[in-house]
Amino acid sequence: MTQGLSPRGRAANLARMRSEPFEVLVVGGGIVGAGIARDAAMRGLRAALVDRGDFASGTSGKTSRLVHGGLRYLKNFKIGLVRQAVRERDLLLERSPSLVKPLAFTIPAYEGRGMGRTTLRFGLWVYDFLSRDKVLPRRRWLRPGQVLDREPHLSGRGLGGGGLYHDALTNDARLVLAVVRSAADAGALVANHAEVTELLRDAGRVSGARVRDRVTEDAFDLRSSVVVNATGVWLDRLRAGRASGGTIRSTKGIHIFLPRKKVGNREAVVLNAKRDGRMLFVLPWGALTLVGTTDTDFGGDPDHVVPDAEDVAYLLEAVNDAFPDARVAPADVVSAYAGLRPLIQEGHAVRESDISREHEIFEDDDGLISIAGGKLTTHRAMAQEAVDRVCRRLGRELPCRTAAAPVGPREEGVDELRALGLEESVARILASRHPVEDVRPWIGQPSAEDRILPELPYLWIEVSMAVESEMATTLEDVMVRRLGLFYEAWDQGLAVTAKVAERMGSHLGWDAARQEREVQEYRRLVAEHRSFRG
Ligand SMILES: Cc1cc2nc3c(=O)[nH]c(=O)nc-3n(C[C@H](O)[C@H](O)[C@H](O)COP(=O)(O)OP(=O)(O)OC[C@H]3O[C@@H](n4cnc5c(N)ncnc54)[C@H](O)[C@@H]3O)c2cc1C
Repeated sequence: MTQGLSPRGRAANLARMRSEPFEVLVVGGGIVGAGIARDAAMRGLRAALVDRGDFASGTSGKTSRLVHGGLRYLKNFKIGLVRQAVRERDLLLERSPSLVKPLAFTIPAYEGRGMGRTTLRFGLWVYDFLSRDKVLPRRRWLRPGQVLDREPHLSGRGLGGGGLYHDALTNDARLVLAVVRSAADAGALVANHAEVTELLRDAGRVSGARVRDRVTEDAFDLRSSVVVNATGVWLDRLRAGRASGGTIRSTKGIHIFLPRKKVGNREAVVLNAKRDGRMLFVLPWGALTLVGTTDTDFGGDPDHVVPDAEDVAYLLEAVNDAFPDARVAPADVVSAYAGLRPLIQEGHAVRESDISREHEIFEDDDGLISIAGGKLTTHRAMAQEAVDRVCRRLGRELPCRTAAAPVGPREEGVDELRALGLEESVARILASRHPVEDVRPWIGQPSAEDRILPELPYLWIEVSMAVESEMATTLEDVMVRRLGLFYEAWDQGLAVTAKVAERMGSHLGWDAARQEREVQEYRRLVAEHRSFRG
């Protein structure tokens, strides 16, 4: 068990952040910040990581959940970006097999819509070519009948064939948590719900940060030789003289979960939206289908981003067009979520979906290093580049060690959990989320193997594990990012919130009033995310 991720571990980490000097402080516990903290700690640097909310509570927990090269970027000739993403995808498939799974995609080619057969065939060839390690099966071209054999519910009108290719699927928030855990295992001190409220400067140079613990409301100064700003769409708030923006152009993307039985997809399908031809994904997620995403400029409050009715209608229209028997309506949406892409500002002339997805690192006059852009998939390479800069600043030559190191639980865990008497579906889920050493102590305890909801393979002990070994600090942390009931349960888990809060309370010392407050906060979150229903 990683002691640093228990409630006691969190308090101890914050106490050490207050008293010890660091070589690097990473602000922001999304995938990029977590990756930087991991890389820095694995090189032997004294590293601290803080996030003002939960880990993955920003963009990194609201993605399409794909670990992919980004086939569509080939259209814009972003060969370098795709090559890097394909290689990072292959590394993740090899080093994180319990978290990152191969997935077959059918991409139908319709007359007069999308890329067209010749371009698509060429694009798929390039995509395969860019994969050096060839860890995934090669592409194939399918005749119309073969497309419909694979995906019988797809529309056959104007179908001229299709491509079959492979990418990978992950649980984005769980991937971030695994990277955070790996950082902590390597010696980084980590804390969620700890906000940097301002940077400290000595003689005009950044020398640390003022940190506020949002659980206790204590504030303290953390001293660090280098500070890395990995706060995604909030990047400009910490950069001197840029509080009103300038670096980031945020675009909003939403996703919806629908019952898979209604949509009818067997595996992953790539669509071109009827309205504007944008590429959309229809992805299998257990009994559900994940559909996304949109891409629209966002000028609102980044702390409150929710799907609106128009976004949802756009995705439903695309699904109904591609799968004519689906006839899905807003009432079929199990859950919906929205995230903001922290894209690098390029001037307003560019269409949202044409803005580059490449990352950039900025070094300001006061010494602050900021990093943004990129993808969930490319986080390791981004982190390597950022930590190379940190090392240069520190005058240290330390090689990067992340490329060969695994992230996430061992795959064999599933056999060990089966041997402990857990049923197959439960063992699989648990093994993909937790190291067996974390699960073992809870097995055999009263109600250990009881499911939280009969239709989902998640057990009550996972609530305890979330608190004791994954730093879950609020009810939302458990419902949204540790268990995912927010996304997958028909009522978004509302019926069990009181019991989950009670169980968390038994670990965290919450009284009845605190439990009730947590439940009300969660209800508010769910209501906000259902406002698209009108
Ligand atoms: C709709 C959508 C779909 C996507 N799909 C994919 C996909 O399928 N595959 C893929 O590879 N990429 C995908 N991406 C891109 C990818 O999600 C992002 O590039 C990546 O998650 C950005 O990570 P980040 O760490 O930079 O930002 P974030 O995850 O937003 O992390 C920044 C963190 O900083 C914290 N923070 C902010 N201010 C402070 C402060 N003052 N003190 C402490 N902490 C602070 C925030 O709480 C937040 O957790 C998608 C993006 C979107 C929006």
